[in-house]
Amino acid sequence: MAEVTAQHEPTLEWDTPLFRQASAQLEQAVPLARISDHVAERLRYPERAVILTLPVRMDDGMVHSFPAYRVQHSSVLGPTKGGVRFDPAVNLGECAALAMWMTWKCALLRLPYGGAKGGVRCDPRALSRTELARLTRRFTTDLAPFIGPGIDIPAPDIATNEQTMAWMMDTYSMQKGHAVPEIVTGKPVSIGGSVFRNEATGAGVVMVIERACARLGWNPAELEFVVQGFGNVGGVAATELHEKGARVVGIADVSGGVVDRAGLDIPTLHEYAREHGSLEGFPAERVTNEELLELACDVLVLAAREDQVGEANAPKLRCRLVVEGANGPTSVAADAILGERGIPVLPDVLTNAGGVTVSYFEWVQDLSRLFWNRDEIRRRLADKLGDAFDRVWALSEADGVSLRNAALIAGIRDVAAALEARGIYP
Ligand code: NAD
Repeated sequence: MAEVTAQHEPTLEWDTPLFRQASAQLEQAVPLARISDHVAERLRYPERAVILTLPVRMDDGMVHSFPAYRVQHSSVLGPTKGGVRFDPAVNLGECAALAMWMTWKCALLRLPYGGAKGGVRCDPRALSRTELARLTRRFTTDLAPFIGPGIDIPAPDIATNEQTMAWMMDTYSMQKGHAVPEIVTGKPVSIGGSVFRNEATGAGVVMVIERACARLGWNPAELEFVVQGFGNVGGVAATELHEKGARVVGIADVSGGVVDRAGLDIPTLHEYAREHGSLEGFPAERVTNEELLELACDVLVLAAREDQVGEANAPKLRCRLVVEGANGPTSVAADAILGERGIPVLPDVLTNAGGVTVSYFEWVQDLSRLFWNRDEIRRRLADKLGDAFDRVWALSEADGVSLRNAALIAGIRDVAAALEARGIYP
């Protein structure tokens, strides 16, 4: 019998630019984290990746097929946890990269979770509400064997929201025959959601900025901010900054940027976006998204999506601090350039962890059927983020590494310790 030998090493299915970015960050941190080779090898790839094709009946009666994904990176510390995005660019590698970052984030925040991510490849703005509902329900049904309150717990991400989570919770619950609120987080409060979950990521970004400012000796009220992204993360972060008296001089959504050197009126921008669906046509000085990132300011908050600052524009940024509200907005090469330029980066795994932290609080409240008030959640969130920030800052100073490497090292070490303790089954 002829032996089949591979001529070239086959490419793994999730090997895409974003996955390579997450892998490169891991490889940079592994020698610094001083973990064993066999543990590092287990962290390089996701534990499980599911690819689905969802047939959905559209409003015009036609049936359309949508590719969909769910990737679970590590379950050593508990169920996996991560968002679901509806986006035309979703692919397996993107989900695998985002799932890996979720693992480090959960470990850094000392949450008993591993990382996951999923999504449906679609243009959510072209779908009606009824089409979105059918798409979400079919996705949940096809995913049912792979998710569960002790297995994998979805949450909102790009273009998904409380309503999406309500449909997911209802679909899963109907199959179980009873209400299972703990299957998803980011639900409406009326069905077991947590107060303050909606604002948690954006508010958490600002808590981390304030903590960093305290260390740097800066007063946030005297600083100029530029925020890219005006959704759940950027929109809330801009509001929190505005309410604290800081000046937001530029903001952008997918339609482009608006600028006012005297400070933008954030509530008016929200009102406009609610009414018109985006900032398109807002009467103010307009810039492109590329130009927005290069505006002179003190703090640049990246809260739109991945892959925004690369080798080409990193030398042109004119800020003193970069804040990653989004996941993966800065490439590895850009990180190095910013490091050389003395511009610190508050990394995503720390800075946007407010969302998953309050998701954890939501899950704990659902499981215990005992609900906390807003002040209690805000206080617990500030404690968790403050503790993680202080550990990252101390490690960065002690080991002379960037804040990103310090955050990754701290997260990776905790996951590695759990893998060592549990060993390999069987
Ligand atoms: P969202 O859909 O609510 O908002 C995204 C915003 O970015 C919108 O205003 C959109 O118009 C804008 N945008 C999209 N492409 C853009 C571009 N090229 N230039 C400028 N603006 C653009 O999504 P979100 O929940 O705010 O998530 C944003 C980022 O934060 C993502 O990377 C997501 O993974 C990350 N994140 C979200 C949460 C959460 O709780 N929602 C938690 C952690 C991390």
